Amino acid sequence: MELIFEKSRPGRSATTIPRSDVPEVAIGSIIDRNLLREEVDLPEVAEVDLIRHYTQLSKRNFGVDVGFYPLGSCTMKYNPKINEDISRLPGFTSLHPYAPVEFSQGSLQLLYEMRQYLSEIFGMADFALQPAAGAHGELTGIMVIKKFFEKKGERRSHILIPDAAHGTNPASGALCGYQVVTVRSNSEGGVDIDHLRELMTEDVAGLMLTNPNTLGLFERNIEQVAEIIHSRGGFLYCDGANANAFMGKTRPGDLGFDVIQLNLHKTFSTPHGCGGPGSGPVGVGKKLVPHLPIPRVVKRGGSYDWDYDCPDSIGRVRAFYGNFNVMVKAYTYIRSLGPDGLKRASEIAVLNANYIKERLKPYYDLAYDRVCMHECVFSGKRQVKESGVHTSDIAKRLLDYGYHPPTIYFPMIVPEAIMIEPNETESKETLDAFCDTMIAIAHEAKENPDLVRSAPLTTPVRRLDDVKAAREPDVCWKGRM
Ligand SMILES: *Cc1c(COP(=O)(O)O)cnc(C)c1O
Repeated sequence: MELIFEKSRPGRSATTIPRSDVPEVAIGSIIDRNLLREEVDLPEVAEVDLIRHYTQLSKRNFGVDVGFYPLGSCTMKYNPKINEDISRLPGFTSLHPYAPVEFSQGSLQLLYEMRQYLSEIFGMADFALQPAAGAHGELTGIMVIKKFFEKKGERRSHILIPDAAHGTNPASGALCGYQVVTVRSNSEGGVDIDHLRELMTEDVAGLMLTNPNTLGLFERNIEQVAEIIHSRGGFLYCDGANANAFMGKTRPGDLGFDVIQLNLHKTFSTPHGCGGPGSGPVGVGKKLVPHLPIPRVVKRGGSYDWDYDCPDSIGRVRAFYGNFNVMVKAYTYIRSLGPDGLKRASEIAVLNANYIKERLKPYYDLAYDRVCMHECVFSGKRQVKESGVHTSDIAKRLLDYGYHPPTIYFPMIVPEAIMIEPNETESKETLDAFCDTMIAIAHEAKENPDLVRSAPLTTPVRRLDDVKAAREPDVCWKGRM
């Protein structure tokens, strides 16, 4: 496809401006700067060219509104359009963040209730809504823990993270200045309790546990894990990005977790991808509440206000109050599903993942053959051995059949990993069609491995060098800019 610059023709324009009836003056002659920068070479196209160009580009894109998107660990569930309608109400979109509280009572009420809902659903004492994404929530949660020890005058330098954790966990721990120590997984895909016991000392601030973990498995020994961490004065952190597996069913606070971050853009059904706006609220137990970020929305008498007077807070972690619009969508989702609906969403998410696991089990090796939560993890080992077809080839072949591929090569403890997260929003027909396709690809891998290895055959571009794109990004059109 041509670039918009290649469609450019000198003098062509998408607008017509009436002829000027006043003398022309060069702006540069009245101010000391030329506002119309001549050196910026913008494309000159008609309105119809512009619309066609971007409409065609949009048709090459893939999203949850286009097809099944089983990208493991990302919870690409369908986002009901009512969330968008509510978040577009002018009272929300036109509100300036610095508007006086008298003019923003409705929005403050929404934030206040959001905190209450999340605290109730996850069994925490309070939530802070500021963090802008999951990883940002992790960082905030670890800063809160660090602040607690600082206040107590205790120096703890290590943080424990299982090898089945999401990659952002060690990054968050390290960014906070902790030395990251890896805890091994046992043969069931859970935390190796003996190894944990060996590593947990008074030098350790806590354990960051993704639960369910990146294998889609629920930690069976969670109470024992909590007991070991707490017995040495540490905190148990829950990476709750996978809350779609348990919301309404179990509360991390009741399981012994002291801190949790959520990914509203996953579990609470707000669109995400391409780094779009997210929201990663952090919930804490009572002991840690004083250290949550400021400002906090409070209710005084009958009205809402911002409270900045929290001397032990870690301070602000985001401009204004976080990604408010994402919270409006998540709030709408919570209110429209209600307690029973949220619970049912996790139940069906888990059911759907287990359905896929059982249907594909005869054709692909399972990493761990036990009941999974919201996602199931296969390994493409068998296909590599039998026909030299790799997981990346299978993923590329799925594109030819119109599916977004699952997450691949993650978690890293599973060789040739294929991580499938179907979500609750998909019908049995969709799941069956996807399973049929995966089975067809398993047969193709045996009978015609070259075909699978040369996929995708139907996409606008074939196999891209994904390392080059990250290492040598080329965002300029040759010869321009
Ligand atoms: C998605 C995810 C994260 C990171 O969330 P972002 O919003 O992308 O920063 C962290 N942990 C787990 C388990 C995740 O699935």
